Amino acid sequence: MKKALIFGITGQDASYLAKFLLGKGYKVFGTSRSKINETNFFKFYNLINQVTFHSVNLNDFKSLKELILQIMPDEIYNLGAQSSVSFSFKNPIETKKSIELATLNIIEIILSINKEIKYFNACSSECFGDTGNLIADENSQFKPISPYAEAKAITFEKVSNLRNKNNLFLCSAIMFNHESPFRPEKFVTRKITLTAVKIKLGITNKLNLGNLLIERDWGWAPDYVEAMWLMLQQNSPDDYILATGQSNSLSTFVKTAFNMLDLNWKNYVEFDNEMNRKFEILKSSGNPNKAKTKLGWVSTMKMEDVISNMIEHDYKLMSGN
Ligand code: NAP
Repeated sequence: MKKALIFGITGQDASYLAKFLLGKGYKVFGTSRSKINETNFFKFYNLINQVTFHSVNLNDFKSLKELILQIMPDEIYNLGAQSSVSFSFKNPIETKKSIELATLNIIEIILSINKEIKYFNACSSECFGDTGNLIADENSQFKPISPYAEAKAITFEKVSNLRNKNNLFLCSAIMFNHESPFRPEKFVTRKITLTAVKIKLGITNKLNLGNLLIERDWGWAPDYVEAMWLMLQQNSPDDYILATGQSNSLSTFVKTAFNMLDLNWKNYVEFDNEMNRKFEILKSSGNPNKAKTKLGWVSTMKMEDVISNMIEHDYKLMSGN
């Protein structure tokens, strides 16, 4: 039985990945910074007793090494990080430590205890900055504009260098946005679907948002975790863009969500200047062709399907039906 160690088990991607790997017959270990033995996700899918939970701080080298030595995993997926772009402007040091230092610690431990351990690094499309009219691929230049993106870009280079220098199986996915009903509410997509449902049910009557003109590529999180696993099953390690290949504006996202509930979004959405970022990526587009050709991976859901799934979940959650 293969063993997978997933850092950041309380997060969206780690939860879906754990579910996916359990389905593949893996023994799954997951970590959080807090002491946990269950999460809403694992309760929802009735999987609590199938994951072994550990508490560890990825910046604490000694405890991290003890944990990895104790588990001796075949594969490590690092999905723990301060992952909010807006929070990274307010707290750049915590963000950078959670991404850069944590990654270096894990790779150093792999180097010292077992060079055969395969490692997945979660990089981000934010590293490209504004792609404008271009569509980013694996050779596009990074132009990060947030502390979050800077940390991800530095880590991407570090992972690539350490892979080449030490002949390690280290892979990075440069992931465009991916969503699900388990996306925390601090992220705009979930805020939109949940608030639209609350408006429909008469619980609230307005939704405050920043710039509606920004364009993103929104995919379905369970698709992306399959690609993470596929990357570690290849003969050699490599880096891949994960995206649907279709970008949409935030206003289209909002309009689609409200339309699904027979609501006219213009009656409820208010522009909030406080939410308008000074440094904002206007357009973000990616080309997932390498993942398609080499991994045989394609995203199964486009934005409309993602929203529909989120609205359905949030409606059941809020109405109790
Ligand atoms: P998420 O839901 O925000 O989960 C990340 C987990 O990391 C949290 O549950 C938290 O677990 C832990 N964490 C939070 N702040 C931390 C900090 N300061 N130091 C250490 N750990 C911290 O993230 P996700 O959406 O699943 O994303 C997984 C990874 O993919 C992240 O590295 C993210 O940056 C990257 N990524 C995600 C997307 C996306 O669209 N979802 C796109 C590109 C890249 P505990 O509080 O339990 O420790």
